Amino acid sequence: MTKPPTELAANLERLRRDDLYRRRRVLSGPQGPHLSVDGRGLLAFCSNDYLGLANHPQVIAALQRGAARYGVGSGAAHLVCGHSTAHQALEEELADFTGRPRALLFSTGYMANLGVISALAGHGQQVFEDRLNHASLIDGARLSGARLRRYPHGDLPALARLLGRQGAGRAHGPSAPLIATDGVFSMDGDVAPLCALAEVAEAEGAWLLVDDAHGLGVLGASGRGSLELAGLGAAQVPILMGTLGKAFGTFGAFVAGGEDLIETLIQRARSYIYTTALPPAVAEATRASLRLVRAEPWRRDHLRALIGRFRRGASALGLPVTDSQTPIQPLVLGDSRRALLWSQALEAAGILVTAIRPPTVPQGTARLRLTLSAAHSETDVDRLLEALAALAQGAEPQPEADPCRA
Ligand SMILES: *Cc1c(COP(=O)(O)O)cnc(C)c1O
Repeated sequence: MTKPPTELAANLERLRRDDLYRRRRVLSGPQGPHLSVDGRGLLAFCSNDYLGLANHPQVIAALQRGAARYGVGSGAAHLVCGHSTAHQALEEELADFTGRPRALLFSTGYMANLGVISALAGHGQQVFEDRLNHASLIDGARLSGARLRRYPHGDLPALARLLGRQGAGRAHGPSAPLIATDGVFSMDGDVAPLCALAEVAEAEGAWLLVDDAHGLGVLGASGRGSLELAGLGAAQVPILMGTLGKAFGTFGAFVAGGEDLIETLIQRARSYIYTTALPPAVAEATRASLRLVRAEPWRRDHLRALIGRFRRGASALGLPVTDSQTPIQPLVLGDSRRALLWSQALEAAGILVTAIRPPTVPQGTARLRLTLSAAHSETDVDRLLEALAALAQGAEPQPEADPCRA
């Protein structure tokens, strides 16, 4: 039964009052550091286009060539007649890039997580997840019907206790427990303790799924993400999920792993089976961006330099920087009102940074989630620091530290 309209209005009013109301902005041009938002030019630090590929001429040209060859719509699901040579080639190239036998494209990362978790877990099984995991990993576990067990952020002893209690120890079979984690946590920018997670998974005979939406393309000398950084391969992390709408600058997602895993997903992942394949031209665009990810390590080097520049500048201003070394640089401000006020003040200075509030982040940890991109210049970062300096010198009390990192 739908709620009567008066109740909807009251609920919306409550969100407004609690500073939790969200609104969309309308962009009239491409993604990039300099956005045209609601008719106004803003210097933006909030997209996930970490390598600056979303508006790259080679990626655009590949999309156009793809559309000329394949048309626009894929017309059907992959298992019906929507799977093209463009999809097939991209899957092979992603398998090669991630060093795994196979990769399978999904239409979005959200759907990839729903699909892989519900294909591997179900009633009577358990899925173990970090408390700060992305909503799609949480929702995937809920949808699967398995019991979701959440452990405190990065708390390996707590995870080991939870796992030990259920008496695991089976090799990866359909009834093995599943541990799922973000590689890079999307609102904090910190990297999961992957080596320790791999050890626990191995000891307990559990599957380990790493969602590397924010690591792939960005971390590791060759952009292979948080697993490259940790020196882990398919033997330690059998299931790797990646998204294509972030560092790759296009759209879609994939799961990479062994032959049996991928065939199981093709047979059983409902969010793979019952949805239209992404447009082949988008797959062609992603092939072009994957070539750039591989061929242009300078993008990662430049990004790393910008991250260092921002962190040094923000620390010198006494801002509550965390120890994130990734392009996600949160400034945790506490309550939602404060995060909104800071975001509004930055916008008045021509800088766009969105305030991230509960329930996206835990209560009391509302924040500015700043993201850096290889498309930013040093001057852009300096402009951001100047605007933050003006705010930091206001009459405000010193922001509190992030309680999650205590
Ligand atoms: C963005 C994101 C997703 C979802 O990917 P989409 O392709 O945008 O649906 C999944 N996991 C994490 C960690 C993400 O940051």
